[in-house]
Amino acid sequence: MKITYEKPIVEMQGDEMTRILWDWIKEYLITPYVELKTEFYDLGLVHRDETDDVVTREAGEAIKRLGVGVKCATITPNNQRMEEYGLKRLYPSPNGTIRAILDGTVFRTPILVKGITPYVPGWTQPITIARHAYGDVYKATDVRIEGPAKAELKVTAADGTVTTYPVHDFKGAGVLQGMHNTDKSISAFAHSCFNYALSVKRDLWLGTKDTISKIYDGRFKAIFASIYENEYKDAFEKAGITYEYTLIDDCVARVMRSNGGMVWACKNYDGDVMSDMLATAFGSLAMMSSVLVSPDGNYEYEAAHGTVTRHYYKYRAGESTSTNPVATIFAWSGALGKRGELENNAALVDFAARLEKATLSTIESGYMTGDLAAIFKSDTVKPVKLESEAFLKAIAERI
Ligand code: NAP
Ligand code: MG
Repeated sequence: MKITYEKPIVEMQGDEMTRILWDWIKEYLITPYVELKTEFYDLGLVHRDETDDVVTREAGEAIKRLGVGVKCATITPNNQRMEEYGLKRLYPSPNGTIRAILDGTVFRTPILVKGITPYVPGWTQPITIARHAYGDVYKATDVRIEGPAKAELKVTAADGTVTTYPVHDFKGAGVLQGMHNTDKSISAFAHSCFNYALSVKRDLWLGTKDTISKIYDGRFKAIFASIYENEYKDAFEKAGITYEYTLIDDCVARVMRSNGGMVWACKNYDGDVMSDMLATAFGSLAMMSSVLVSPDGNYEYEAAHGTVTRHYYKYRAGESTSTNPVATIFAWSGALGKRGELENNAALVDFAARLEKATLSTIESGYMTGDLAAIFKSDTVKPVKLESEAFLKAIAERI
């Protein structure tokens, strides 16, 4: 008998090679064991274009309603894609649209497996990056100054009061940027981080540059401190975990010397950069899982990598590919496990854990995709490179 559950999961299909992997993962690893109940949204670029991107916003709203979603990687179109797909217009990144609807924080965690050694040998436990997904340089006004000019910041309060702040007297050409964040978004970020750290029982660190950016970064530090003191301190102490604030430079130095295991809260730009560094240091972008957590406790799981375009073109040309499906499998196990947890459904929680274990043990027994085979090191196991479909079948045998 297949495992059942009550509330549907929001399923978001995507693009290119990951779209192909998606259907295979369901066919070989999930539907034989689970009576899958999903609300389906096709976020593939063709369907986004057909619906004027309404489908993406509907999917975001569905996650809010149903609490758990799982998303395939999707193309963020640029001009070349516009031509390739004959798009009506350049749509924004689906992840950006969904993040804005959920006001959530993205947590990225490497998937550790024996045989793939991190470049930093001390990192025996995963490091999770929590990236604040709103504002700063990602929502900035970027200005080119063509010649001598006086730049000021002008703020008009709701009552009409105007305050101007000097920025710079340009003697010649240059550049200028105005950026912002909000107490509301920083607070939501803080709640998501504290909740996530509690749910995985790991220490939480926040690093910013508040020595230089006293007001802007100082606000992050202050909001985290007050929310921690008032709402989470007892729960953290009970769980045996800690929260600490430290300067971003100090944070980087200490993370390098650590054994890992912490949840590292980063401002938007820091999180963008540091998550790529950590993914590489832990071995492979294809082994990085990702979950978006909203402050009111909705979860969206996905892989951290993209649609693996280069492999897709080969696949379309009839060649077999050895694209790594592990992060996408973990997106599914994450979503199914969370649904199980929310419904006190032990069978579903157990299945999600078994799926992850089967995936890791397949690799540890020597069967893996080419990206891993190239970096796998073991005295006893000789890595065998499989194409994607054969790898999925090898995992299925172990479930
Ligand atoms: P990518 O799809 O992550 O792939 C970059 C390269 O990394 C690949 O060519 C491949 O290297 C390697 N790689 C990534 N994932 C892999 C996997 N699962 N198995 C094996 N190798 C893997 O990034 P991209 O090529 O820059 O972007 C492609 C498309 O994805 C873009 O249209 C972008 O908009 C989109 N994207 C979506 C998301 C998302 O939905 N979350 C995130 C990032 C990018 P080799 O070719 O050397 O084998
Ligand atoms: Mg990046």
